[in-house]
Amino acid sequence: MGWIAFYALLAIGLIAAFALWRKWISPWKDARELADDIVEQRPPRKVLISGNPEAQLVGLALETLMDRRSELEKRVRESEASAQTILGAMLDGLAVVDERRTVRLMNREFRRMFDLAETVSGGTLLELAHHPIVDRLAAEAIRSQEPQRESIELARGPGERRELELSAVPFGENSAEMKGAVILFRDVSHFRKVETMRRDFVANVSHELRTPLSILRGYLETLLDDPDQPPGELRRILEIMERHSNRLNALVEDILSLARLESPGIELHLAEVDLPELLHGIMRDWEKRFAAKQLKSHLNFPGNLPRLPADATRLQELIYNLLDNAVKYSKPGGTVSLRAELAGNSVRISVADQGQGIPPGDLPRIFERFYRVDKSRGGEQSGTGLGLSIVKHIAQLHGGTVEAESELGKGTTISVLLPVAR
Ligand code: ADP
Repeated sequence: MGWIAFYALLAIGLIAAFALWRKWISPWKDARELADDIVEQRPPRKVLISGNPEAQLVGLALETLMDRRSELEKRVRESEASAQTILGAMLDGLAVVDERRTVRLMNREFRRMFDLAETVSGGTLLELAHHPIVDRLAAEAIRSQEPQRESIELARGPGERRELELSAVPFGENSAEMKGAVILFRDVSHFRKVETMRRDFVANVSHELRTPLSILRGYLETLLDDPDQPPGELRRILEIMERHSNRLNALVEDILSLARLESPGIELHLAEVDLPELLHGIMRDWEKRFAAKQLKSHLNFPGNLPRLPADATRLQELIYNLLDNAVKYSKPGGTVSLRAELAGNSVRISVADQGQGIPPGDLPRIFERFYRVDKSRGGEQSGTGLGLSIVKHIAQLHGGTVEAESELGKGTTISVLLPVAR
């Protein structure tokens, strides 16, 4: 009897202990696991806590905490993503550094400028940009709390440099939180290039105008000093003056033509040009010039030429420039050929001559403004050096391209490819 009571009591005790454990101990264990999950940012194994009401309340509070945190994380992710989108869309490089010049934020353009892989996520400004001036500028902005500006040069590939304009703006002067600077990197290489081109152009124009002008002035002075020249001499002087005034005129015409072609608002008067008709007309206009230099001429095009969407006046100017060169650089007795043919979706118009040709070293440069193969060549052959840049401009305005082939002493072919469908 005594044994039975003992076992019964033991059983009751165990059951009570188990119930007690389930009600008071186990919920706290669950609550701790839930808290651990939240701290470790793991998905919780168990959310609902059953058992004693206190533990249930703690469980509920933990659950709310978890929801709030994931909501907060989502918002941070969203605002980070939109900040990255905005920064990524910027054409300038941007980096945000803290007081110690550790980079806290950078955009895609900054990575591109300093060749940083996507995997590079941080470091000091000096480590990432490898440029002491950049680091100094940021330090100076943070120290003085004044915006700073400076230009630097970066190597971009072999032999190519680019110029960056930097501005560093400090932030967080009176704030107990982060202090640092925003640094903006603007690539101004293109502006510099345009600026240099403009300066070169002005220098070239002045140089080209100076020669004929000084010759004209010289002869004018001769005539003013001694107007009674022998008739033969007077004629010779007037002829020279005429030649140089023609040259001045050609220069001014070409410069104006180029300026018009380059002006941003230029409009092409596009029409469906009947090429055979245009080419026949041009050959008729040029008969006299060919004959004057005893040149044979040849026109060639297939029967299936489509109508070409082009500005007829400009197209004629283009072909005139090519024919002008072909005649100028040909020897008497040679042939000048004007050809048109279909080439894929384009029409190729080319002018070929059997003249002196162009040395291979000069060939890639002949479309540059004022480029002449032999600058010392005088007389009739001394062109302006602008004809082929005008040709190239007109071709490009039509969405086309230019090509040149030449063999020294044998002849030259200059072609333009103009798209049929625009
Ligand atoms: P230019 O008015 O001097 O002819 P272009 O721009 O038309 O200027 O041509 C640039 C240079 O290219 C010329 O100075 C000449 O040296 C060379 N060139 C152009 N076309 C020919 C050609 N058909 N044959 C030989 N050389 C040519």
